[in-house]
Amino acid sequence: MVKQEVTGTWITLEKDLTLRVPSDPNVGYIEGDGVGPDIWAASSAVMDAAVARAYGGARKIHWFELMAGEKALKETGEWLPEKTLEDIRQCVVAIKGPLTTPVGEGLRSLNVTLRQVLDLYACVRPVRYFPGVPSPMKNPERVNMVVFRENTEDVYAGIEWSAGSPEALRLKGFLEKEFGVKLPDEPGIGIKPMSRAGTQRLVRRAIRYALDRKLASVTLVHKGNIMKYTEGAFRKWGYELAASEFAAETVTEAEVAEKYQGKAPEGRVVIKDRIADSMFQQALLRPSEYQVLATPNLNGDYLSDALAAQVGGLGMAPGANIGDQCAMFEATHGTAPKYAGLDKINPGSLILSGAMMLEYLGWGEAARLMEQALAATIQSGVVTYDLARQMEGAREVRCSEFGRAIIDRMGG
Ligand code: NAP
Repeated sequence: MVKQEVTGTWITLEKDLTLRVPSDPNVGYIEGDGVGPDIWAASSAVMDAAVARAYGGARKIHWFELMAGEKALKETGEWLPEKTLEDIRQCVVAIKGPLTTPVGEGLRSLNVTLRQVLDLYACVRPVRYFPGVPSPMKNPERVNMVVFRENTEDVYAGIEWSAGSPEALRLKGFLEKEFGVKLPDEPGIGIKPMSRAGTQRLVRRAIRYALDRKLASVTLVHKGNIMKYTEGAFRKWGYELAASEFAAETVTEAEVAEKYQGKAPEGRVVIKDRIADSMFQQALLRPSEYQVLATPNLNGDYLSDALAAQVGGLGMAPGANIGDQCAMFEATHGTAPKYAGLDKINPGSLILSGAMMLEYLGWGEAARLMEQALAATIQSGVVTYDLARQMEGAREVRCSEFGRAIIDRMGG
Protein backbone atom coordinates (compact mmCIF):
# COMPACT_ATOMS: atom_id res chain seq x y z
CA MET A 1 0.00 0.00 0.00
CA VAL A 2 1.37 3.42 -0.96
CA LYS A 3 1.97 5.67 2.05
CA GLN A 4 -0.36 8.64 2.00
CA GLU A 5 0.93 12.16 2.06
CA VAL A 6 -0.46 14.19 4.96
CA THR A 7 -1.27 17.63 3.60
CA GLY A 8 -3.34 19.22 6.37
CA THR A 9 -3.19 19.61 10.16
CA TRP A 10 -4.53 17.01 12.62
CA ILE A 11 -7.63 17.75 14.70
CA THR A 12 -6.86 17.40 18.42
CA LEU A 13 -8.85 17.10 21.64
CA GLU A 14 -8.72 19.56 24.54
CA LYS A 15 -8.51 18.19 28.12
CA ASP A 16 -12.32 18.46 28.44
CA LEU A 17 -12.61 16.45 25.18
CA THR A 18 -13.86 19.37 23.06
CA LEU A 19 -12.44 19.49 19.55
CA ARG A 20 -9.66 21.82 18.43
CA VAL A 21 -10.22 22.14 14.69
CA PRO A 22 -7.59 23.84 12.49
CA SER A 23 -8.63 25.66 9.30
CA ASP A 24 -7.01 22.87 7.23
CA PRO A 25 -8.02 19.66 9.09
CA ASN A 26 -7.13 16.18 7.90
CA VAL A 27 -10.47 14.38 7.87
CA GLY A 28 -10.55 10.60 7.43
CA TYR A 29 -12.79 8.92 4.87
CA ILE A 30 -13.71 5.35 3.99
CA GLU A 31 -15.01 5.30 0.43
CA GLY A 32 -17.04 2.17 1.07
CA ASP A 33 -18.07 -0.83 -1.04
CA GLY A 34 -20.74 -1.27 -3.72
CA VAL A 35 -22.24 2.16 -4.40
CA GLY A 36 -19.71 3.71 -1.96
CA PRO A 37 -17.37 5.17 -4.62
CA ASP A 38 -20.34 6.78 -6.47
CA ILE A 39 -21.84 8.45 -3.41
CA TRP A 40 -18.42 9.38 -2.04
CA ALA A 41 -17.44 11.20 -5.27
CA ALA A 42 -20.71 13.17 -5.28
CA SER A 43 -20.72 13.91 -1.53
CA SER A 44 -17.09 14.96 -1.11
CA ALA A 45 -17.50 17.40 -4.02
CA VAL A 46 -20.57 18.91 -2.31
CA MET A 47 -18.72 19.22 1.04
CA ASP A 48 -15.65 20.82 -0.59
CA ALA A 49 -17.83 23.30 -2.49
CA ALA A 50 -19.84 24.23 0.64
CA VAL A 51 -16.68 24.87 2.69
CA ALA A 52 -15.12 26.90 -0.14
CA ARG A 53 -18.27 29.03 -0.57
CA ALA A 54 -18.94 29.49 3.14
CA TYR A 55 -15.40 30.58 4.07
CA GLY A 56 -14.08 32.03 0.79
CA GLY A 57 -11.09 29.68 0.77
CA ALA A 58 -10.02 30.40 4.38
CA ARG A 59 -10.91 26.82 5.40
CA LYS A 60 -10.39 23.57 3.53
CA ILE A 61 -10.75 19.88 4.36
CA HIS A 62 -7.72 17.70 3.57
CA TRP A 63 -9.13 14.23 2.90
CA PHE A 64 -7.18 11.30 4.36
CA GLU A 65 -8.16 7.89 3.00
CA LEU A 66 -8.82 5.06 5.46
CA MET A 67 -8.69 1.48 4.21
CA ALA A 68 -11.65 -0.78 5.03
CA GLY A 69 -13.91 -3.30 3.32
CA GLU A 70 -13.28 -4.82 -0.10
CA LYS A 71 -10.68 -2.22 -1.10
CA ALA A 72 -8.66 -3.01 2.06
CA LEU A 73 -9.02 -6.75 1.44
CA LYS A 74 -7.61 -6.34 -2.08
CA GLU A 75 -4.70 -4.15 -0.97
CA THR A 76 -3.81 -5.61 2.42
CA GLY A 77 -5.50 -9.02 2.70
CA GLU A 78 -7.62 -7.79 5.65
CA TRP A 79 -11.15 -6.36 5.82
CA LEU A 80 -10.25 -3.89 8.56
CA PRO A 81 -6.48 -3.49 9.07
CA GLU A 82 -5.24 -2.43 12.52
CA LYS A 83 -3.57 0.58 10.84
CA THR A 84 -7.03 1.87 9.85
CA LEU A 85 -8.14 1.91 13.48
CA GLU A 86 -4.95 3.81 14.42
CA ASP A 87 -5.55 6.26 11.57
CA ILE A 88 -9.16 6.90 12.67
CA ARG A 89 -7.94 7.66 16.21
CA GLN A 90 -5.36 10.04 14.74
CA CYS A 91 -7.97 11.77 12.53
CA VAL A 92 -10.48 12.12 15.46
CA VAL A 93 -13.23 12.82 12.87
CA ALA A 94 -14.01 10.60 9.86
CA ILE A 95 -16.81 9.80 7.42
CA LYS A 96 -17.64 6.54 5.69
CA GLY A 97 -19.63 5.03 2.86
CA PRO A 98 -21.38 1.65 3.35
CA LEU A 99 -19.30 -1.48 3.93
CA THR A 100 -20.09 -5.04 2.89
CA THR A 101 -20.65 -7.36 5.82
CA PRO A 102 -18.55 -10.41 4.96
CA VAL A 103 -20.85 -13.44 5.07
CA GLY A 104 -19.64 -16.40 7.11
CA GLU A 105 -19.49 -17.88 10.55
CA GLY A 106 -17.35 -15.92 12.96
CA LEU A 107 -17.06 -12.78 10.79
CA ARG A 108 -18.58 -9.77 12.54
CA SER A 109 -20.02 -6.77 10.75
CA LEU A 110 -17.29 -4.21 10.07
CA ASN A 111 -19.66 -1.48 11.21
CA VAL A 112 -20.29 -3.16 14.56
CA THR A 113 -16.55 -3.79 14.96
CA LEU A 114 -15.73 -0.14 14.28
CA ARG A 115 -18.31 1.00 16.84
CA GLN A 116 -17.09 -1.39 19.51
CA VAL A 117 -13.33 -1.14 19.01
CA LEU A 118 -13.42 2.67 18.85
CA ASP A 119 -16.03 2.86 21.63
CA LEU A 120 -18.35 4.98 19.46
CA TYR A 121 -21.11 4.69 22.01
CA ALA A 122 -23.72 7.10 20.63
CA CYS A 123 -25.39 6.43 17.30
CA VAL A 124 -26.94 9.78 16.37
CA ARG A 125 -29.60 9.85 13.65
CA PRO A 126 -31.41 13.13 12.91
CA VAL A 127 -34.72 12.60 11.12
CA ARG A 128 -36.35 15.51 9.37
CA TYR A 129 -38.45 16.12 6.31
CA PHE A 130 -37.32 17.82 3.12
CA PRO A 131 -40.30 19.29 1.22
CA GLY A 132 -40.95 17.46 -2.01
CA VAL A 133 -39.67 14.06 -0.85
CA PRO A 134 -42.41 11.44 -1.23
CA SER A 135 -43.60 10.22 2.19
CA PRO A 136 -46.33 7.85 3.40
CA MET A 137 -47.34 10.44 6.07
CA LYS A 138 -50.06 13.11 5.74
CA ASN A 139 -47.89 15.64 7.56
CA PRO A 140 -44.29 14.44 7.33
CA GLU A 141 -43.04 17.97 8.14
CA ARG A 142 -44.13 17.35 11.75
CA VAL A 143 -41.35 14.79 12.15
CA ASN A 144 -38.19 16.51 13.37
CA MET A 145 -36.39 14.25 15.84
CA VAL A 146 -32.88 13.14 16.67
CA VAL A 147 -32.38 9.58 17.88
CA PHE A 148 -29.49 8.92 20.29
CA ARG A 149 -29.12 5.16 20.26
CA GLU A 150 -26.75 3.41 22.68
CA ASN A 151 -24.26 1.60 20.50
CA THR A 152 -22.17 -0.77 22.60
CA GLU A 153 -24.44 -2.69 25.03
CA ASP A 154 -27.75 -4.58 25.00
CA VAL A 155 -28.33 -7.73 22.95
CA TYR A 156 -25.96 -6.25 20.34
CA ALA A 157 -22.95 -6.87 22.59
CA GLY A 158 -22.36 -10.09 20.65
CA ILE A 159 -22.43 -12.37 23.72
CA GLU A 160 -24.41 -15.34 22.44
CA TRP A 161 -24.16 -19.08 21.90
CA SER A 162 -25.96 -21.22 19.35
CA ALA A 163 -28.55 -23.85 20.26
CA GLY A 164 -26.95 -27.13 21.28
CA SER A 165 -23.44 -25.67 21.63
CA PRO A 166 -21.49 -26.87 24.69
CA GLU A 167 -21.43 -23.26 26.01
CA ALA A 168 -25.21 -22.84 25.73
CA LEU A 169 -25.84 -26.21 27.37
CA ARG A 170 -23.41 -25.42 30.17
CA LEU A 171 -25.01 -22.04 30.79
CA LYS A 172 -28.49 -23.61 30.75
CA GLY A 173 -27.33 -26.15 33.33
CA PHE A 174 -25.82 -23.42 35.50
CA LEU A 175 -28.95 -21.22 35.38
CA GLU A 176 -31.25 -24.13 36.16
CA LYS A 177 -29.11 -25.41 39.02
CA GLU A 178 -28.16 -22.10 40.62
CA PHE A 179 -31.28 -20.00 39.98
CA GLY A 180 -34.02 -22.56 39.49
CA VAL A 181 -35.06 -21.13 36.10
CA LYS A 182 -36.61 -23.42 33.51
CA LEU A 183 -35.26 -23.14 29.96
CA PRO A 184 -36.37 -25.02 26.81
CA ASP A 185 -34.27 -27.94 25.58
CA GLU A 186 -31.26 -26.85 23.55
CA PRO A 187 -31.87 -23.09 23.66
CA GLY A 188 -29.78 -20.55 21.78
CA ILE A 189 -28.76 -18.05 24.44
CA GLY A 190 -27.92 -14.34 24.13
CA ILE A 191 -27.01 -11.97 26.95
CA LYS A 192 -28.42 -8.46 27.33
CA PRO A 193 -25.94 -6.42 29.39
CA MET A 194 -26.85 -2.79 30.15
CA SER A 195 -24.99 -0.63 32.64
CA ARG A 196 -25.44 2.62 34.53
CA ALA A 197 -22.21 4.05 33.03
CA GLY A 198 -23.16 2.98 29.50
CA THR A 199 -26.64 4.45 29.80
CA GLN A 200 -25.62 7.68 31.45
CA ARG A 201 -22.90 8.67 28.98
CA LEU A 202 -25.49 8.28 26.20
CA VAL A 203 -28.21 10.23 28.02
CA ARG A 204 -25.67 12.94 28.94
CA ARG A 205 -24.93 13.47 25.24
CA ALA A 206 -28.63 13.54 24.37
CA ILE A 207 -29.39 16.17 27.03
CA ARG A 208 -26.39 18.32 26.05
CA TYR A 209 -27.54 18.17 22.44
CA ALA A 210 -31.03 19.37 23.41
CA LEU A 211 -29.63 22.15 25.59
CA ASP A 212 -27.19 23.39 22.93
CA ARG A 213 -29.99 23.63 20.38
CA LYS A 214 -32.68 24.84 22.80
CA LEU A 215 -34.92 21.85 22.04
CA ALA A 216 -38.02 21.24 24.17
CA SER A 217 -37.61 17.63 25.31
CA VAL A 218 -35.55 14.47 25.69
CA THR A 219 -37.55 11.21 25.80
CA LEU A 220 -36.10 8.03 27.30
CA VAL A 221 -37.48 5.14 25.23
CA HIS A 222 -37.46 1.72 26.91
CA LYS A 223 -39.30 -1.54 27.41
CA GLY A 224 -38.90 -1.37 31.17
CA ASN A 225 -42.35 -2.73 32.01
CA ILE A 226 -41.12 -6.16 30.84
CA MET A 227 -37.31 -6.06 31.10
CA LYS A 228 -37.09 -4.33 34.45
CA TYR A 229 -33.38 -4.60 35.25
CA THR A 230 -32.06 -3.64 31.82
CA GLU A 231 -34.60 -1.42 29.98
CA GLY A 232 -36.28 -0.36 33.23
CA ALA A 233 -32.89 0.52 34.66
CA PHE A 234 -32.14 2.54 31.50
CA ARG A 235 -35.15 4.71 32.35
CA LYS A 236 -34.17 5.03 36.01
CA TRP A 237 -30.51 5.84 35.30
CA GLY A 238 -31.56 8.37 32.66
CA TYR A 239 -33.77 10.31 35.10
CA GLU A 240 -31.06 10.08 37.79
CA LEU A 241 -28.47 11.55 35.45
CA ALA A 242 -30.77 14.44 34.49
CA ALA A 243 -31.42 15.20 38.16
CA SER A 244 -27.79 14.96 39.27
CA GLU A 245 -26.02 16.74 36.40
CA PHE A 246 -28.67 18.98 34.80
CA ALA A 247 -30.99 19.87 37.71
CA ALA A 248 -31.13 23.58 36.83
CA GLU A 249 -31.62 23.08 33.10
CA THR A 250 -34.15 20.23 33.03
CA VAL A 251 -37.56 19.38 34.46
CA THR A 252 -39.42 16.06 34.34
CA GLU A 253 -42.77 15.67 32.63
CA ALA A 254 -44.27 14.68 36.00
CA GLU A 255 -42.98 17.90 37.59
CA VAL A 256 -44.42 19.96 34.73
CA ALA A 257 -47.85 18.47 35.50
CA GLU A 258 -47.58 18.69 39.31
CA LYS A 259 -45.74 21.97 39.87
CA TYR A 260 -46.08 24.06 36.72
CA GLN A 261 -49.73 23.60 35.65
CA GLY A 262 -48.71 21.64 32.57
CA LYS A 263 -46.42 24.31 31.11
CA ALA A 264 -42.65 23.76 31.28
CA PRO A 265 -40.64 26.69 32.68
CA GLU A 266 -38.98 28.76 29.94
CA GLY A 267 -35.59 27.42 28.81
CA ARG A 268 -35.80 24.05 30.60
CA VAL A 269 -35.60 20.77 28.69
CA VAL A 270 -38.44 18.40 29.65
CA ILE A 271 -37.26 14.85 30.44
CA LYS A 272 -39.93 12.25 29.77
CA ASP A 273 -40.09 8.55 29.01
CA ARG A 274 -42.16 6.28 26.80
CA ILE A 275 -42.46 2.53 26.52
CA ALA A 276 -41.00 1.48 23.16
CA ASP A 277 -44.20 0.13 21.56
CA SER A 278 -46.10 3.26 22.54
CA MET A 279 -43.27 5.38 21.10
CA PHE A 280 -43.81 3.84 17.65
CA GLN A 281 -47.46 4.96 17.82
CA GLN A 282 -46.56 8.40 19.13
CA ALA A 283 -44.07 8.87 16.30
CA LEU A 284 -46.92 8.34 13.83
CA LEU A 285 -49.73 10.12 15.65
CA ARG A 286 -48.07 12.96 17.60
CA PRO A 287 -44.56 13.41 16.18
CA SER A 288 -44.34 17.13 16.97
CA GLU A 289 -44.27 16.33 20.71
CA TYR A 290 -40.83 14.70 20.43
CA GLN A 291 -37.46 16.29 19.74
CA VAL A 292 -34.62 14.11 21.11
CA LEU A 293 -35.04 10.36 21.81
CA ALA A 294 -32.50 8.45 23.92
CA THR A 295 -32.78 4.69 23.46
CA PRO A 296 -31.04 1.40 24.21
CA ASN A 297 -29.37 -0.32 21.26
CA LEU A 298 -32.05 -2.58 19.77
CA ASN A 299 -35.03 -0.25 20.21
CA GLY A 300 -33.02 2.58 18.68
CA ASP A 301 -32.15 0.47 15.65
CA TYR A 302 -35.81 -0.23 14.88
CA LEU A 303 -37.02 3.23 15.76
CA SER A 304 -34.50 5.16 13.67
CA ASP A 305 -35.30 3.16 10.52
CA ALA A 306 -39.05 3.49 11.12
CA LEU A 307 -38.69 7.26 11.58
CA ALA A 308 -36.55 7.51 8.45
CA ALA A 309 -39.35 5.77 6.51
CA GLN A 310 -41.83 8.39 7.75
CA VAL A 311 -39.84 11.15 6.04
CA GLY A 312 -39.04 9.30 2.83
CA GLY A 313 -36.68 6.41 3.50
CA LEU A 314 -33.07 5.47 4.10
CA GLY A 315 -31.73 7.08 0.92
CA MET A 316 -31.94 10.46 2.71
CA ALA A 317 -31.17 9.46 6.32
CA PRO A 318 -27.88 10.70 7.80
CA GLY A 319 -26.11 9.28 10.83
CA ALA A 320 -23.03 9.32 13.02
CA ASN A 321 -21.36 7.10 15.57
CA ILE A 322 -19.79 9.26 18.24
CA GLY A 323 -17.48 8.48 21.15
CA ASP A 324 -15.37 10.61 23.47
CA GLN A 325 -12.17 10.11 21.45
CA CYS A 326 -13.45 10.05 17.87
CA ALA A 327 -16.53 10.26 15.65
CA MET A 328 -17.50 8.48 12.46
CA PHE A 329 -20.21 9.96 10.23
CA GLU A 330 -21.85 7.53 7.80
CA ALA A 331 -24.38 6.77 5.11
CA THR A 332 -27.04 4.75 6.91
CA HIS A 333 -28.00 2.53 3.97
CA GLY A 334 -26.03 -0.48 2.73
CA THR A 335 -23.85 -1.09 -0.32
CA ALA A 336 -26.86 -1.64 -2.67
CA PRO A 337 -24.67 -3.95 -4.82
CA LYS A 338 -27.04 -4.07 -7.81
CA TYR A 339 -26.43 -0.34 -8.38
CA ALA A 340 -22.63 -0.42 -7.84
CA GLY A 341 -20.74 1.66 -10.41
CA LEU A 342 -23.93 2.75 -12.23
CA ASP A 343 -23.78 6.38 -11.00
CA LYS A 344 -27.45 6.04 -10.15
CA ILE A 345 -28.03 5.86 -6.42
CA ASN A 346 -29.14 8.75 -4.19
CA PRO A 347 -26.11 10.28 -2.40
CA GLY A 348 -28.44 12.22 -0.03
CA SER A 349 -27.68 10.11 3.05
CA LEU A 350 -23.91 10.65 2.80
CA ILE A 351 -24.33 14.33 1.85
CA LEU A 352 -26.49 14.97 4.93
CA SER A 353 -24.04 12.99 7.08
CA GLY A 354 -21.35 15.28 5.69
CA ALA A 355 -23.41 18.31 6.76
CA MET A 356 -23.73 16.77 10.24
CA MET A 357 -19.96 16.32 10.29
CA LEU A 358 -19.31 19.96 9.34
CA GLU A 359 -21.68 21.03 12.13
CA TYR A 360 -19.72 18.79 14.53
CA LEU A 361 -16.48 20.50 13.42
CA GLY A 362 -18.10 23.84 14.27
CA TRP A 363 -18.45 24.74 10.57
CA GLY A 364 -22.21 25.29 10.76
CA GLU A 365 -22.32 27.88 7.95
CA ALA A 366 -21.07 25.30 5.44
CA ALA A 367 -23.44 22.66 6.85
CA ARG A 368 -26.46 24.90 6.39
CA LEU A 369 -25.38 25.81 2.88
CA MET A 370 -25.37 22.10 2.00
CA GLU A 371 -28.77 21.43 3.58
CA GLN A 372 -30.41 24.46 1.97
CA ALA A 373 -28.99 23.64 -1.47
CA LEU A 374 -30.08 20.00 -1.16
CA ALA A 375 -33.60 21.08 -0.13
CA ALA A 376 -33.77 23.54 -3.05
CA THR A 377 -32.62 20.86 -5.52
CA ILE A 378 -35.33 18.43 -4.41
CA GLN A 379 -37.97 21.13 -4.41
CA SER A 380 -37.11 21.99 -7.99
CA GLY A 381 -37.88 18.35 -8.89
CA VAL A 382 -34.28 17.37 -9.72
CA VAL A 383 -33.83 13.98 -8.02
CA THR A 384 -32.30 10.51 -8.35
CA TYR A 385 -34.29 7.45 -9.50
CA ASP A 386 -35.55 6.43 -6.06
CA LEU A 387 -37.40 9.70 -5.52
CA ALA A 388 -38.24 10.26 -9.21
CA ARG A 389 -40.24 7.01 -9.35
CA GLN A 390 -42.56 8.34 -6.66
CA MET A 391 -42.79 12.02 -7.70
CA GLU A 392 -44.91 13.44 -10.45
CA GLY A 393 -43.10 15.69 -12.94
CA ALA A 394 -39.65 15.05 -11.47
CA ARG A 395 -36.49 15.15 -13.60
CA GLU A 396 -34.42 12.03 -12.90
CA VAL A 397 -30.68 12.63 -12.77
CA ARG A 398 -27.62 10.52 -12.02
CA CYS A 399 -25.89 10.43 -8.66
CA SER A 400 -23.08 12.73 -9.86
CA GLU A 401 -25.55 15.11 -11.56
CA PHE A 402 -27.56 15.38 -8.36
CA GLY A 403 -24.35 16.38 -6.53
CA ARG A 404 -23.56 19.00 -9.19
CA ALA A 405 -27.13 20.34 -9.07
CA ILE A 406 -26.71 20.88 -5.32
CA ILE A 407 -23.42 22.73 -5.82
CA ASP A 408 -25.07 24.92 -8.50
CA ARG A 409 -27.69 25.97 -5.96
CA MET A 410 -25.18 27.12 -3.35
CA GLY A 411 -24.84 30.54 -4.94
CA GLY A 412 -21.74 32.69 -4.39
P1 NAP B 1 -29.01 -1.78 1.02
O1 NAP B 1 -27.65 -1.86 0.47
O2 NAP B 1 -29.30 -0.62 1.92
O3 NAP B 1 -30.01 -1.75 -0.22
C1 NAP B 1 -31.33 -2.19 -0.22
C2 NAP B 1 -32.19 -1.35 -1.15
O4 NAP B 1 -32.44 -0.09 -0.52
C3 NAP B 1 -31.57 -1.00 -2.50
O5 NAP B 1 -31.66 -2.03 -3.41
C4 NAP B 1 -32.38 0.23 -2.85
O6 NAP B 1 -33.74 -0.13 -3.17
C5 NAP B 1 -32.50 0.93 -1.50
N1 NAP B 1 -31.40 1.88 -1.28
C6 NAP B 1 -30.32 1.73 -0.44
N2 NAP B 1 -29.54 2.81 -0.50
C7 NAP B 1 -30.13 3.67 -1.34
C8 NAP B 1 -29.79 4.97 -1.81
N3 NAP B 1 -28.69 5.60 -1.40
N4 NAP B 1 -30.59 5.55 -2.71
C9 NAP B 1 -31.69 4.94 -3.14
N5 NAP B 1 -32.08 3.72 -2.74
C10 NAP B 1 -31.30 3.09 -1.85
O7 NAP B 1 -29.37 -3.11 1.85
P2 NAP B 1 -28.95 -4.63 1.64
O8 NAP B 1 -29.10 -4.97 0.16
O9 NAP B 1 -29.70 -5.36 2.63
O10 NAP B 1 -27.40 -4.71 2.02
C11 NAP B 1 -26.32 -4.81 1.10
C12 NAP B 1 -24.99 -4.87 1.87
O11 NAP B 1 -24.80 -3.67 2.62
C13 NAP B 1 -24.86 -6.02 2.87
O12 NAP B 1 -23.53 -6.55 2.79
C14 NAP B 1 -25.07 -5.35 4.22
O13 NAP B 1 -24.44 -6.04 5.25
C15 NAP B 1 -24.43 -4.01 3.97
N6 NAP B 1 -24.91 -2.94 4.88
C16 NAP B 1 -24.01 -2.02 5.27
C17 NAP B 1 -24.39 -0.94 6.06
C18 NAP B 1 -23.36 0.07 6.48
O14 NAP B 1 -22.23 0.01 6.04
N7 NAP B 1 -23.72 1.04 7.33
C19 NAP B 1 -25.74 -0.79 6.42
C20 NAP B 1 -26.68 -1.74 5.96
C21 NAP B 1 -26.25 -2.81 5.18
P3 NAP B 1 -34.35 -0.37 -4.64
O15 NAP B 1 -33.77 -1.64 -5.12
O16 NAP B 1 -35.82 -0.43 -4.38
O17 NAP B 1 -33.99 0.78 -5.52
